[in-house]
Amino acid sequence: MDIAAALSLLSQAIGVVKDLRDIDKGFDKAALKAQMADLYGSLADVKIALSDAQITIHDREQQIKKLEDQIATLTSGEGCPICNTGKLKVVSVHAHPILGPAGVQEKTLKCDNCTHLERRIIEPDGRSKRR
Ligand SMILES: [Zn+2]
Repeated sequence: MDIAAALSLLSQAIGVVKDLRDIDKGFDKAALKAQMADLYGSLADVKIALSDAQITIHDREQQIKKLEDQIATLTSGEGCPICNTGKLKVVSVHAHPILGPAGVQEKTLKCDNCTHLERRIIEPDGRSKRR
């Protein structure tokens, strides 16, 4: 059962209480007993539905936590294009062998999961793109 079912049962129980109030005015003992039995039954069902909903909420919270952790992992650093599991970490940054004097650097990234290694040319201020 979910929260919608619990709420439906609860309004059913409230309806029974309303009927009980009306019976109280007329004081019909047999009808009162029958309504009380209905009320107990409805409230017991509400209790079950709410504890089911609590379990569902707890499961969802754990799922959300897990997804938040995955998002944090995926958004912190670039993912490896080879294994799709590891993160690329910068292992060295040095002047480019040829374009170094022009301010161009070469950055080496290594996957923390597999052996993938890649070099990238970085231009700190995009010098070669200017005309
Ligand atoms: Zn990798």
